Amino acid sequence: MEQTYIMIKPDGVQRGLVGEIIGRFERRGFILKGMKLLTVDKSLAEKHYADLSTKPFFQKLVNYIVSGPVVAMVWEGKNVVTTGRKLIGATNPCESAPGTIRGDFAIDMGRNVIHGSDAVESAKKEIALWFPEGIA
Ligand code: ATP
Ligand code: MG
Repeated sequence: MEQTYIMIKPDGVQRGLVGEIIGRFERRGFILKGMKLLTVDKSLAEKHYADLSTKPFFQKLVNYIVSGPVVAMVWEGKNVVTTGRKLIGATNPCESAPGTIRGDFAIDMGRNVIHGSDAVESAKKEIALWFPEGIA
């Protein structure tokens, strides 16, 4: 069954949105397969966003991800990669629709609450990166 990597970013954890976000994925019908709270080092954050390493905002993005604990999760279900991205909403919260996580809880692109894998292949890579110990 398809799996995706979902991460509640430091602002989402600090603002107490963990339960709200997990509830949305649960109510949609997805299955939680792995979850942990961890504070990331720079090297892991840089690997996670390696595709963006040439972007001008890369260092700011990495600093944001290491600024506090994140909740790393694996969710499973039919079409979960694409549907998960729909639940999350557009990257820039100014453009994300109300009813989506970013559309309901974020206003700043640099603090947009949550990450979701953008394709099945990147989900596989991200799950291996964040859960090297494997999931049950
Ligand atoms: P994520 O990968 O975190 O789920 P995304 O897939 O919607 O977000 P990406 O293009 O992968 O968007 O960018 C990763 C993150 O980098 C975004 O969530 C955002 O915080 C930041 N970002 C992207 N584009 C910009 C930009 N133009 N200026 C500032 N920050 C940006
Ligand atoms: Mg992305």
